[in-house]
Amino acid sequence: MSKRKLSKQQQKRISERHADIVNNLSEAELANAIAAGQLSQELIGTVIANYGKFADVEHSDQQIYRCGVRQNLAAFAVGDEVVWRKAPDDTGVIVAIHPRHGLVWRQQGKQKKLLAANIDQFNIVCAPIPKTNLLLLDSYLVAAHYFHLNSIILLHKCDLLNADAKLATQLDYYQVMNVPMLQTSIYDIGSIKQLCLQLQGKNSIFVGQSGVGKSSLLNQLVSGANARIADSTHLHGKHTTSTANLYHLDQTGCVIDSPGMRDFQLDFLTRTEIAAGFVDFKAYLEKCQFRNCSHQHEPRCGVIDAVKHNHIAHWRYENYLALIKEK
Ligand code: GDP
Repeated sequence: MSKRKLSKQQQKRISERHADIVNNLSEAELANAIAAGQLSQELIGTVIANYGKFADVEHSDQQIYRCGVRQNLAAFAVGDEVVWRKAPDDTGVIVAIHPRHGLVWRQQGKQKKLLAANIDQFNIVCAPIPKTNLLLLDSYLVAAHYFHLNSIILLHKCDLLNADAKLATQLDYYQVMNVPMLQTSIYDIGSIKQLCLQLQGKNSIFVGQSGVGKSSLLNQLVSGANARIADSTHLHGKHTTSTANLYHLDQTGCVIDSPGMRDFQLDFLTRTEIAAGFVDFKAYLEKCQFRNCSHQHEPRCGVIDAVKHNHIAHWRYENYLALIKEK
């Protein structure tokens, strides 16, 4: 009689059960397992999905291994490079995390929730439909500045630009701040090729309002992204709710799709950190009379002066005030 073939979901459940066994070993038992050769030598891999107690680690052979995450391991994120050991059943255990750059996180109560690691670039997606929220766009720029990441604005669905005639001109303002902008549409293959060039060799995150086209862009850039999304949806609920995933671009570089970025808030930043993220204010900050000037009501404030003289756009200043409210 032929062996019954396990479904993908059954295989994953079994590997999770195996990884959980390694998770629950004591330090001594783990050391014994290593000494007895039950776990491989140390290997290097990249975390491509993080499920909390488990993570999918991609090895240099491009195979993906479901790994246990032991409780004493420091917090890590998708994109982290990790040291791991493989068990004979092709599951594994993560034992250490390499130093990283470009860590993106958000505050969850008193804790930092890590969203993505080793990120180089924020791709801030906006579109004529749904109507672009410039306050949200500004908050993403502030966040990128805080995390020391480059930003690029993607004016997506540019085939619909006549639905918001003013948008492209309004976004021109950001060019003054040297934020590159690219117009894209899934119906314009040339624009997608341009975007590929911008992303080449970088690790990126796409952020933006729901409905602006982030998933559609991802599907254009990564062959098979749809399949991976469907797969994680099947196991872990709607993919937009829980799991961050790393996708290799068809050329070099990767995109991390992190649902935690979708309702990103700046409430953990101080007023000064928010002001620093408004890079068009920078030239005027030193003209403020008070070193701790909040740029709201103080006399001889360089920023308020610059707004009065139209050196800083009024709507940018309004967005700054909105972001520092209640600080
Ligand atoms: P997300 O919520 O940001 O991930 O947005 P989706 O990728 O789900 O896209 C939302 C809607 O916009 C879908 O109906 C897409 O088909 C549509 N869409 C995506 N890209 C484009 C585009 O370039 N032009 C137009 N006209 N529609 C697009």
